[in-house]
Amino acid sequence: MSNVVAPWVSHRPRATRTPTNPLDKSTVVSILPCRIEEWKRTLQPGRFILEAGSYEKPTVLVVGTSSWYKDIDPDQPLLEIPVSSIQIADSIIRDYCNGLLACDMSGSMPGLFFIPGEHNIVSIQRDHKNLLNKARDKQKNWYQALIKLGDALWARSNGNPLVISEDMKLAAHELQLKEKSWMKDNIYISEMINCPACGTMRNSNFPICHNCKVVVDKTAFEKLGLKYAV
Ligand SMILES: [Zn+2]
Repeated sequence: MSNVVAPWVSHRPRATRTPTNPLDKSTVVSILPCRIEEWKRTLQPGRFILEAGSYEKPTVLVVGTSSWYKDIDPDQPLLEIPVSSIQIADSIIRDYCNGLLACDMSGSMPGLFFIPGEHNIVSIQRDHKNLLNKARDKQKNWYQALIKLGDALWARSNGNPLVISEDMKLAAHELQLKEKSWMKDNIYISEMINCPACGTMRNSNFPICHNCKVVVDKTAFEKLGLKYAV
């Protein structure tokens, strides 16, 4: 959208913000244990911050109408286009979720939703328990999908810690899966080195190369009590 101009960088007659409807409010609710910061540069107001929340203690952000400015004529002030609070709330959630691993925006996603109108934690816990429960279920599904993905990538990469994303670690932490091998602190000690036989990167903690199946570390191999395959 090339004709979208931020009014504060324009040298043109300035568009004054028209008064917005004070009743146009929506409430974004988060039970995601991460802080969210969305900055939409063409909108005013355009900066939205939601602190980390939880099912027991959700965080809320009440948003109102924002505006963007359209360039219609070089000699005219920019045209103000209002965006309703519902669209703002929806786009805060969509933009945050956009591109997240294992998030499908329906059954498997971070615990974020919005309610039209102005609400606080108490009224949400009292009147919208069903929405909170739904968000908790969806977030749990998302965590589980992330864990599955983490397990698959971990296995496929022969234990390379780089394949485990921050979201996966968060999911394992939230589901209290401390026994996950990729959640152990020492996974960072494992080093990826070149296999002397075939040259692919292999995890130095394991005696066999996952690519060419050569026993690279004979001592470690025998220590495990394993037998050579015939
Ligand atoms: Zn090899």
